[in-house]
Amino acid sequence: MNDVRPLSEIASYHAHIYYDGEAQRRQAEWLRGRIGERFRVRLGNWHDEKVGPHGQAMYQVSFAPAIFATLVPWLMLNHGGLSILVHPNTTNPRRDHLVDPIWIGRPLPVKGDVLPEDHEAEEALEVNTEPTLGV
Ligand code: ZN
Repeated sequence: MNDVRPLSEIASYHAHIYYDGEAQRRQAEWLRGRIGERFRVRLGNWHDEKVGPHGQAMYQVSFAPAIFATLVPWLMLNHGGLSILVHPNTTNPRRDHLVDPIWIGRPLPVKGDVLPEDHEAEEALEVNTEPTLGV
């Protein structure tokens, strides 16, 4: 049996919103706008080129554990066919991305070998949205 891992291991979450081609980029722009209207998160830079372990263009959404229970179900309903990787941020980024994430939409390959197995857990990044709408 494994040891039970406490929720306190999770310092924050990322949602990586992937897109491929013009139509999906427009969908990703639409989704980004709607997220920003509704959730207190950090919307990250657009990465039109592949970066890090990610096999497709994407942008990142960083959020605190308290946001998970509303943002993640909302993304399930509103991803519009885009693939989204939601992973915890603990002290093991490789495991966070490869073993412990959830996917919304179609799962994509992730190159976990570029990620460390021991790293300081990332707290949620500074919020850069000002939500005005309910979910
Ligand atoms: Zn991430």
